[in-house]
Amino acid sequence: MARSIIIIGAGMGGMAAGIYGQLNGYETQIFEMHTKPGGQCTSWQRKGYAFDPCIHHFFGCKSGSSVCQMWHELGALPRELVNIEECTAVASPGGKIFVDYYDLERLKGTLLKLSPADSKMIEQYIGLIKTFANNKIDDVISSGSFWKMATIFPVMLSIQKWTKMDMRPFAEGFSDPFLCKGFALLIYANPDAPLFFHLMRHAGGMSGDIQWPVGGAAEFAKSIERRYLALGGTVHYSSKVEKILIENDRAVGVKLIDGSEHRADIIISNADGRKTIFDMLDGKYINETIRGYCAPLSDETPFAVDVFLGINRDLFGEPSSLVLLLEQPVTIANHKYESIEAQLYGFDKSMAPAGKGTIKVELPASYAYWKQLYNDDREKYKQEKQKVAEQVIEILESHFHGIKNQVEVIDVCTLLTWERYMGGTQGWFNLPNRKLDFSMREDLSDKKFKTTLPGLSNFYFVGVWATAMGSLAHNANSGKTIIRRICKKDNKEFKAQP
Ligand SMILES: Cc1cc2nc3c(=O)[nH]c(=O)nc-3n(C[C@H](O)[C@H](O)[C@H](O)COP(=O)(O)OP(=O)(O)OC[C@H]3O[C@@H](n4cnc5c(N)ncnc54)[C@H](O)[C@@H]3O)c2cc1C
Repeated sequence: MARSIIIIGAGMGGMAAGIYGQLNGYETQIFEMHTKPGGQCTSWQRKGYAFDPCIHHFFGCKSGSSVCQMWHELGALPRELVNIEECTAVASPGGKIFVDYYDLERLKGTLLKLSPADSKMIEQYIGLIKTFANNKIDDVISSGSFWKMATIFPVMLSIQKWTKMDMRPFAEGFSDPFLCKGFALLIYANPDAPLFFHLMRHAGGMSGDIQWPVGGAAEFAKSIERRYLALGGTVHYSSKVEKILIENDRAVGVKLIDGSEHRADIIISNADGRKTIFDMLDGKYINETIRGYCAPLSDETPFAVDVFLGINRDLFGEPSSLVLLLEQPVTIANHKYESIEAQLYGFDKSMAPAGKGTIKVELPASYAYWKQLYNDDREKYKQEKQKVAEQVIEILESHFHGIKNQVEVIDVCTLLTWERYMGGTQGWFNLPNRKLDFSMREDLSDKKFKTTLPGLSNFYFVGVWATAMGSLAHNANSGKTIIRRICKKDNKEFKAQP
């Protein structure tokens, strides 16, 4: 008889575990608390506008890479993709604009025009992108494979000065004041983001490995769900798991909040790590390392508030992502901003009604501030969201004159929205508490202590808790890794194809 697997959560890791489980002869079922698949990989419609809080960079579009192959196995590719011309653009209040084109000749020309005096620094930047592109570093990193990582170790050593640097110190190498300020903000307007990530996505965009999946995150997630269902898997929606059932330190099933119990030979959690460890398992299976990972996260959270706008304006031809430097810092909901970043979806016609456009502005913010508002006074929480949207529209007006009167739909989501739908600890930000380490030393290997728990058998984690990475590819790959490991334990040859 086929061995059975219960998966908690239909995120990337959960659905991938389901697909590879079905492909390898396991009988799998997924219990998902939300009404739809995808978890963080989500988007929704309002009056014909699609609002996508998730996908900025979809890695794995270039055929031949292991990530691309995985997306095909999962049914996410082939699909219609858009090749975007630029990584990010930055605009000054005075009207200067720097477009970080993927094409290196065009990029060089743009930079030299803005600041001929910075030619040396420009060469340095272009040279680093070439190193990343020529060594396929983006492909290797997004594959999540420890062995592939080993192959790029020498080149990573040779550029380690740069890979350890954040955006701000690198940008300070430009003598031009606009470039010095603007370049630092190319990653989600965050000057403390790692240069490494920027180089990786630049190389990915250049090679065609990063493209935009038409329709956005919900369509993307649905295509993976379709593959899972076609392979005979079952997803139970609106089915929140409350407890993992244990017998003699073996996971044997789950209990849902409706009181029903479901049993299986193996239990895989794609849910938030802290909730799984402390709520579903009552904190019984833990050691000091894991306790450390469960420590509270920093209060300042990226993508904490998303303002979505449906605009009666065609955004075709606008940069896909635009950082606006502000003349004066602006306080929005208790947080000071010197710039804001807008995503403009003019490159995908399916994201808005004909001739109209969708904009998203993502703001880092304090989790505690929004949590307290939400808990204390739901009406005030709603009013604050509306106020945030109005301030954001006012800022956009300074660059897109007339936009104020073109707003047709406003939708604001916060970390509390994520929590409501996905049951996380701090909105979507469910990472173990450790600094993201891009130096290849730890996170990308299949570490047992993060995919299992001490003293508990027949139980695995997939997804963010298992990878410590906020990435579609890594988290989908974690589902593949776990099923491969289960196959090995069961003396079965792992299959990735029907
Ligand atoms: C704002 C934002 C932007 C991002 N941008 C990008 C990007 O540009 N490129 C990229 O590659 N990645 C991006 N990511 C990261 C990527 O989306 C995530 O890393 C990935 O989707 C997480 O997958 P996961 O397997 O960890 O599952 P999750 O998405 O965390 O899903 C977990 C699932 O478990 C369910 N669940 C939780 N608790 C229970 C329970 N008790 N019972 C039943 N079900 C439960 C949840 O509802 C959810 O569906 C972004 C993420 C966010 C939030």
